[in-house]
Amino acid sequence: MTEMPKIDSVDIELPDGRLFVGGVWEEGTGAEITSIFPADGSVNRVLKGASREDGLRAIERAKAAQADPAWCGLKPHERARHLHRIADGIEANAERIARIQTRDTGKTLRETRALAASAAGTFRYFAAALETTDDALTARRGDALTMSVYEPLGLIAAITPWNSPIASDAQKVAPALAAGNAVLLKPASWSPLVSLELARIVEESGLPKGLFSVLPGAGREIGNLLVEHPDIAKVSFTGGTETGRMLARQAAEKLMPVSLELGGKSPTIVFADADIEQALAGVLYGIFSSTGQSCIAGSRLFVERSIYDAFVTRLVAATKALKVGHPHASETQVAPLVHPSHRDGVARMVSDAVAAGAKVLCGGTAPEGADYEGGAYYLPTILAGVTNDAQICREEVFGPVLVVLPFDGEEDLIAQANDNAYGLACGIWTRDFPKSWRIGRAITTGTVWVNIYKQFSISTPFGGEKDSGTGREKGREGIHAYMAQKSFYVDLTGAPLPWAAAQVAS
Ligand code: NAD
Repeated sequence: MTEMPKIDSVDIELPDGRLFVGGVWEEGTGAEITSIFPADGSVNRVLKGASREDGLRAIERAKAAQADPAWCGLKPHERARHLHRIADGIEANAERIARIQTRDTGKTLRETRALAASAAGTFRYFAAALETTDDALTARRGDALTMSVYEPLGLIAAITPWNSPIASDAQKVAPALAAGNAVLLKPASWSPLVSLELARIVEESGLPKGLFSVLPGAGREIGNLLVEHPDIAKVSFTGGTETGRMLARQAAEKLMPVSLELGGKSPTIVFADADIEQALAGVLYGIFSSTGQSCIAGSRLFVERSIYDAFVTRLVAATKALKVGHPHASETQVAPLVHPSHRDGVARMVSDAVAAGAKVLCGGTAPEGADYEGGAYYLPTILAGVTNDAQICREEVFGPVLVVLPFDGEEDLIAQANDNAYGLACGIWTRDFPKSWRIGRAITTGTVWVNIYKQFSISTPFGGEKDSGTGREKGREGIHAYMAQKSFYVDLTGAPLPWAAAQVAS
């Protein structure tokens, strides 16, 4: 175990816990929510979440604001200015946002600073995309001018998980506002504070009141209301597969579009011809950064059999050398998990795997010592000795747990990698580019990384296949996901349609 690094303990004032209900700061009237600092279990804030009544008020205010010409009458470049002002606010408050998110989630400051910067970039990207998105004249096949235009859907519910709130919030809020909608954001109950801070920044940016709400609260109360309410035109959801499946069923009832960014059990693949140092660093980062609490975590590692023993030996040694520690310490690589109950769930999945025959190569327990007391820590863990059909290879752990598996040749690899309900991401390490192309094309997945992992760009679409979800976020088309397409036919002849021309001739 490594020594606990020095801790930077600058104090910040946290949001006071009131909700942002259609542009008005109000105490919630729903079930109580407790945000804790997972590094030591101390309480950040106890707040009342949003009730159905709070949600209904937010919806009424959002409807009025969305229909107001002060918003719906804006030209794209005018709406883009609002997004730039929100980005300015995020940049000006980036350190505060990072520290609030670290308190809410236990993520390292290094990571939350990067997430704040990426959130600002997301607003700027969609401002630019909005200004450069064209309606289309379509090819004429008759005597009418034909056009395809895009219009806002109206009210969007954005439902987000706790693992990277400011980034996942921005990924939905920016394109939905750019598209001219109003947005009701429901963050997860473990991480309400950073989304409430985003509300403060949006308010200060001068966005018309009512267009944005932040409604933390119980999924079955406020979440349900947002999905079922007839005035909500689309739900954009990021979270667990079972929750997503349930929302999709509810959405089907009112024929509402949903986009679903769900879980993963992503394969990372190391061929014998890979640059081994590059592969080791990529595999470690892919699974253990963010303490494994990442939908795209590379949690199933396939290593070509001829290098399996040597590679796994080096991987285990490097994993044991990772710095597990306080999220405020600059050297920390593996911070606590989001909550003690989540840490206990991860520990349970590991002990179930061991009971089913898995061998622990490293980790498999919480770190010991006074520095870790009260914190939701768990050591980076590598398991071996199971086959791809074991439960631990099938289920998402959402923690720092990697399963290693050998493979023999491309056919065996592709069969094993695809034999899983999820299809979110995949990493391939090889020096043979045509091989990486063949494998990447053969694996059912939303994203392929070759000799690199967990790198994101807002300009590149992201989403999953199979149980990892439907729809894509990011990219220029990200705005159209929040718009309705309308077709226009405009007569060019000035004459009555021939079919009834005789009857209408005077
Ligand atoms: P979760 O499904 O428990 O919750 C996600 C959100 O849904 C929360 O805001 C929650 O309160 C809300 N919710 C729960 N029940 C609801 C209901 N009945 N109606 C409406 N809303 C409801 O997920 P989580 O534990 O917060 O997050 C972890 C999961 O998110 C993991 O499975 C992870 O893979 C997934 N995730 C996916 C992506 C992606 O882009 N694919 C990104 C991050 C996280």
